[in-house]
Amino acid sequence: MSSKWNDNDYHPYADEYYPLSKHYGGPGAAGLMKKTGIKGLIVHITDGNSLLSSLKTTWENRAASAHFAVDKGGTIAQYIPLSQRSWAVDGWKVDNLWYSVENVAVHGETLTDMQIRMNGYLLAWLNGEYGVPLKLAATPDDSGLSYHAMFTKSKPCPGKPVIAQLQDIVDAAVGLNGG
Ligand SMILES: [Zn+2]
Repeated sequence: MSSKWNDNDYHPYADEYYPLSKHYGGPGAAGLMKKTGIKGLIVHITDGNSLLSSLKTTWENRAASAHFAVDKGGTIAQYIPLSQRSWAVDGWKVDNLWYSVENVAVHGETLTDMQIRMNGYLLAWLNGEYGVPLKLAATPDDSGLSYHAMFTKSKPCPGKPVIAQLQDIVDAAVGLNGG
C-alpha cells in the first residue's frame, strides 16, 4: 500500500499534517470517499486527547480516525487524504459520505470561538467543493452539518453544549461564503 498522498488529497486550510501510517477506514478501493455524493461534515470531540500530534498514534492503533482535528486555538490538522475514508462513525456507509472533524474538548465543554470558526471553514469548503448546504442536517439521511450522536445514539459525542453551538458553525460558514 502506498502512503503517498495525491496533490488534491491535501486540505487547503489545514495547518499541520500527521498522515496515519495505517487506518481502519481505508485505504484501498473499498475505503475511498464517495465524492459524487458527499453529504457534509460531522462534528466530534476528542474527550481526552489534547495534542493534535498525539491523535496520530491513537488512530493508528484502533478502529477510530477522522480526516481533521482542531485544537482550542483553532489549528487544523489533517490525518487522512481527502480521497480516503476515515473511521469516525462506522468506517463504512456513513464515513463514505461524510467528512469528520474532531475538536479538542472534554465531554460537557463548549467549543472555543476559534474552533467554531475553523469548523465553519471546513463546512464552507464542503459547500464550495461538493455543494453541501450551509444548514444543520435534520436527520442522518439529510445533508449539511451534523454530529456523531445523530448516527450512533449510544455515543454522547460531541455532547449537548457543543450540539447547541452547531448553528454558530453554520453561521460562520455562511459569513465566510459571503452570505
Ligand atoms: Zn465522535
